Amino acid sequence: MRKRTKIIASIGPSSSSSSKLNKMIREGTDVFRINLSHSNILQAKKIVEQLKVESDKLNRPVATMIDLQGQKIRIKDFGKKTHVQLKNNDQFILDSSLPEGKGTNKVVGITYKELYKHLDKGDEILLSDALIKLEVIGIKQNKIITVVKRGGRLKPHQGLNKKGGGLTLRGITPKDKSDLQQALEIDIDYIAVSFVKDERDIKEIKKLIGKKQIGVIAKIERAEALLKIDEIADASDGILVARGDLGVEIGIEQLPAVQDRLIRKSIALDKIVIVATQMMESMINNRVPTRAEVFDVANAVTSGVDAIMLSAETAIGRYPVDVVQEACRICEIAEKTNRNITKVEKKELNLTSVDQVIAFSAVFAADNSCIKAIACLTETGSTPRWMSRVQSNIPIYAMTKSDTASRRICMYKGVYSIKINDVEYDHARANKQVVDLMVEKGAVKKGDFVIITKGDLMGTSGSTNALKIVEVGNLVDA
Ligand code: PGA
Ligand code: MN
Repeated sequence: MRKRTKIIASIGPSSSSSSKLNKMIREGTDVFRINLSHSNILQAKKIVEQLKVESDKLNRPVATMIDLQGQKIRIKDFGKKTHVQLKNNDQFILDSSLPEGKGTNKVVGITYKELYKHLDKGDEILLSDALIKLEVIGIKQNKIITVVKRGGRLKPHQGLNKKGGGLTLRGITPKDKSDLQQALEIDIDYIAVSFVKDERDIKEIKKLIGKKQIGVIAKIERAEALLKIDEIADASDGILVARGDLGVEIGIEQLPAVQDRLIRKSIALDKIVIVATQMMESMINNRVPTRAEVFDVANAVTSGVDAIMLSAETAIGRYPVDVVQEACRICEIAEKTNRNITKVEKKELNLTSVDQVIAFSAVFAADNSCIKAIACLTETGSTPRWMSRVQSNIPIYAMTKSDTASRRICMYKGVYSIKINDVEYDHARANKQVVDLMVEKGAVKKGDFVIITKGDLMGTSGSTNALKIVEVGNLVDA
């Protein structure tokens, strides 16, 4: 049995060849993330095409997620120098009028011209994921004068955050909008929105997406977003706990409690939740993860996340395939040995659609009986999505003839996506087709009981209204 937790792998120079993509799919990557902070749309298009070829070869659907760059403030560069050294107690100036190439260990340019308007004496500025800490001691026109509180090696184009948040930029930039327009021309399945401030950012993106079936994931990486988390989660299809930037803004010591809260919130709201950043960081250079990383991934699984995201580990690390392999292994064992898996809870269910009623009933029935697996014939993936919202150990096999649905389903926890070319219209024959496929996948064997869900009018979306229980090897003849 494969792991239930989904693996999202970021693509970069280490992983963009067809042979690496093929190996990463084989080892269990479910979703491939293309980060537009480091790639452009043309590169994204090429990756999507390569993924289609490799996933077809392996007969395993995978989804792609485009990550919009968002409003990340960065320093400019130091000309030919690969870095400068900042010493404690030295003065360092952030000067928005300084062009690229002119930075030194005394002054550097910044990408956000009006940053000085949002800062006051005493504010803390963090560079390069908080490796370097500056304190503002004065503002002179558009120059921010600081003193170095924690020095170190500063490389060009590093991110800049203000401790505690409060940089009042909106999330969506003109670059994001134009990237999104172009991304909509290619077959992508999810959009991750960076530096979301509140639900308006998500609504804006959803409006631009229009009728296209693309999931929107809100990256929670600003202090402000935590105050609006209900509204943001409600407007999105899922949230991503972006521990990198979020940790810089709120302090890394706050992350465990916040991660926990965000996971619980998403589960309560029936939204996808992804945990990201430094999950297997040491594997950028090493073949095995640290004990702490093993615990971190297992802990996320035990808390009920839908997916674990790998960042630099697979994008620029030395062992992208090994990382996926290790992450899958940790997830699989954590899922098996997890004593916290809640059976279908008697929470206040307010089921509003027929497919929701079927989905919850199927998992509830399977979870409390000898039924081994669920097969779900689906057009849009809506029924398996509802099934995946229930915390259970029942494997769900979603079968669809829709290319887009088969990819989108790859993000749903505990759901294995199977693309079928033709669904039998006759119900008895369809049951046999489904059961044969599950036997072939090694999911069930003779004598096992299986739930099949489907619609009366197969081939029409939104029509799942039937739940059938069959015994493998003992089906009514077609
Ligand atoms: P990034 O976002 O990888 O795009 O920086 C994730 C994070 O900040 O944790
Ligand atoms: Mn980030």
